[in-house]
Amino acid sequence: MTVPPARLRADACPGALQTHAAADGALARVRVPGGVLTAAQLLDLSAAARDLGDGALELTSRGNVQLRGLRAGAEAELGDRLAATGLLPSATHETARNVLASVLSGRVGGLLDVRSWVPAFDAGLCADPALAALPGRFLAAFDDGRGDVAGLGADVGLLALDDGAVALLLAGVDSGLRTGPDGAVALALAATRAFLDVRAEQGGAAWRIADLTDGRARIVTLLGGSLDAPRPVPPAPVSGPAGAVPQDHGRTALVAVVPLGRLTAAQADLLAETSAGELQLTPWRSVVVPDLADAAALPLLAAAGLELDPGSPWLRVTACAGRPGCAKSLADVRTDVVRAVTAGALPAGGARQHWVGCERRCGRPAGEVVDVVATGEGYRIG
Ligand code: SF4
Repeated sequence: MTVPPARLRADACPGALQTHAAADGALARVRVPGGVLTAAQLLDLSAAARDLGDGALELTSRGNVQLRGLRAGAEAELGDRLAATGLLPSATHETARNVLASVLSGRVGGLLDVRSWVPAFDAGLCADPALAALPGRFLAAFDDGRGDVAGLGADVGLLALDDGAVALLLAGVDSGLRTGPDGAVALALAATRAFLDVRAEQGGAAWRIADLTDGRARIVTLLGGSLDAPRPVPPAPVSGPAGAVPQDHGRTALVAVVPLGRLTAAQADLLAETSAGELQLTPWRSVVVPDLADAAALPLLAAAGLELDPGSPWLRVTACAGRPGCAKSLADVRTDVVRAVTAGALPAGGARQHWVGCERRCGRPAGEVVDVVATGEGYRIG
């Protein structure tokens, strides 16, 4: 087997306890399975950002949250705060808890309500000591049939085919294995364990199923069972919803896009106070405030700098940390993006684009996206 060069070292994904030393201070990544937060948890996160970090929460493409600019020695206090609010149920498994779930599942659209799968999978994962060895890059995605997260290239995916059949996806492709809704979480956990078994057979260096030799086939063999003809997996959408979304049963969800994923503590507080008790972070760096009586809070959120216009360019633009957060960066990428959006001067005809400060192209979203790369003398497309 040829191990990709980067995999010759151990995965060093940051966590809440194992922080990353960035140019602007320590960076902590808090896993939020399914992107689901209670209002109280969001308030606790914003307080932590104010007290210990740079005053903002960074939303990631996996629906997780990062705190940047942590002052020296703040890790222990952050860990205590996260544990107290229920965001650190396992110190040993914290970086393995990467789970995406369909946005607005059970509230509008979709073929099944997958909301209960997320805590069940997370509990099963944290309860299995062997799964603490999962690399921090490993990703699970549960799609209720609307096709919003199935195409995001998760290692283990569940995709509802109808209200009684669920497909197991491996490395973003239909494995052919099927189960019913009640067996879906157990199958995803079994596939996750099988990944570790195959990984161990192949030297233990792989971070993801795609790094294995014949990984998908080997895992299917270990799981056993009859196979259906594989179905095509819906491609990842360019962006998620935005603005007011009517739910079933007369409720309304407000979906606020967070420009460049940087949610200030004040914006986080406002979202928490607006909510009916629960919120969902999305892979498109937006926050869903579901189950509202109406859309009356929309202007308030927009006035706070959140984007609720489905036509906003902020739905199509992402960026890496850039300067000053990253020492490798050749530009203050985020300031330059804000300038381009404000001036209506996005390159590439305003196509979906990802701005980066160097060739590493961190945080590049899945799917079709144009790269805007800093060169030290401006930006290059591609
Ligand atoms: S793409 Fe380059 S500049 Fe941007 S965060 Fe990654 S390493 Fe830093």
